Amino acid sequence: AVEIRLASRPEGWPTTDNFDIVEAPVPEPGPGQLLVRNKVMSVDPYMRGRMSAAKSYVAPFEIGQPLDGGAVGEVVRSNSDDFSPGQSVLHSLGWREYAVVDATQATAVSSEFPPSAFLGVLGMPGMTAYVGLMDKARFQQGDTVFVSGAAGAVGSLVGQLAKLGGAERVIGSAGSPEKVRLLTERFGFDAAFNYKDAPVGEQLRAAAPNGIDVYFDNVGGDHLEAAIGSMNDFGRIAACGAISQYNATEAQPGPRNMFQFVTKRLSMQGFIVNDNTHLKRDFFEHVAPLVREGRISYEETSVDGIRKAPEAFLGVLRGDNTGKMLVNIA
Ligand code: NDP
Repeated sequence: AVEIRLASRPEGWPTTDNFDIVEAPVPEPGPGQLLVRNKVMSVDPYMRGRMSAAKSYVAPFEIGQPLDGGAVGEVVRSNSDDFSPGQSVLHSLGWREYAVVDATQATAVSSEFPPSAFLGVLGMPGMTAYVGLMDKARFQQGDTVFVSGAAGAVGSLVGQLAKLGGAERVIGSAGSPEKVRLLTERFGFDAAFNYKDAPVGEQLRAAAPNGIDVYFDNVGGDHLEAAIGSMNDFGRIAACGAISQYNATEAQPGPRNMFQFVTKRLSMQGFIVNDNTHLKRDFFEHVAPLVREGRISYEETSVDGIRKAPEAFLGVLRGDNTGKMLVNIA
């Protein structure tokens, strides 16, 4: 069975040379464990951080060891009373065809939604959008909301949740004309722009002439500086990610307009989704019906075959994906 290991740690942009594609024996489940045949796995921006040795909120991947991350698969053998063969489970041992998963670390997923939904709109990225917007940015009806990375897994849900929640205006930025069109035509954003076309600050001022109350930051850098510049008094920023900096080899310049935090009485809350399990139920009860009713839509981009997983991961960093980036394994 194929598994993908970290071959070396990247300096700057990763390449496929940083990964090893290896044939390994199908592992044996021990007591209380499941053997799972993975069907679909997630590649996520945070995995770039785990390729580095630097201390962070989640342990680094180890050289010579398989990578891991969200996956949904089918139980083929079960040494637990809680699961039986044939069941679909969500777990965190992706990057391999077969995983041995502790039953306590597996979550049964309903067949009401496609398995991939539990890696995207109804999974970790969806929860990130919900927690960041509702809890960290304290979104309120009537807010004007700006989200960067808006055509991605997290961003596309942020915009839709804001719109459905009664936002005055929702603005998104993304990196291609196709994505920008999708934001207004499919996801219901009021305005969208391509950050590669002209300075972000300029484009944001044009899209939000009355300023913004909430900024959901997926990108950092010039996007963050632009958002601070367009913030209204008492504006709130959810600091979710800074993907423009994940491959940087030296410290990046900070926003030059930080004094506006004082003059405009702004606040900014960084967060890690996994610290917010107390909101998981709220999230699912809020979002699952909207997905079921078709009031929230979501996009996926996928590659076929586990051997393509490194390419898919590099693709997320480059912006090849619209919506959630996935690898179909079986
Ligand atoms: P996405 O589906 O949004 O994929 C990443 C996107 O980032 C790409 O498609 C690309 O789109 C965009 N991008 C890449 N480079 C740049 C750049 N230099 N400037 C602007 N945009 C860029 O990923 P996710 O939805 O999974 O994650 C979105 C963000 O949320 C990331 O920053 C991630 O790290 C963060 N995150 C944080 C979590 C938390 O707990 N705090 C949990 C999950 C995600 P484009 O074509 O538009 O450039």
